[in-house]
Amino acid sequence: MVARLPLQGFECVADDVYRERLATCRDCPSLQYGTTCSHCGCFVRVRAKLAGKDCPRPGGPSWQAAG
Ligand code: SF4
Repeated sequence: MVARLPLQGFECVADDVYRERLATCRDCPSLQYGTTCSHCGCFVRVRAKLAGKDCPRPGGPSWQAAG
């Protein structure tokens, strides 16, 4: 699913930014089941790939939107 996002016209971050975002999510207490952000219900592997998305943590994002 993640690999198809650029083909579907979604602006995506580079691999290094993607890995950095996912590493932050892995250490975050708001990550549920190892897959899902408790604040937005998103699969972080998808949300972190999208350039226009940021981390939805209340009080301030742990990673920012790109661009
Ligand atoms: S998107 Fe933000 S709040 Fe959600 S799991 Fe990742 S770092 Fe945590």
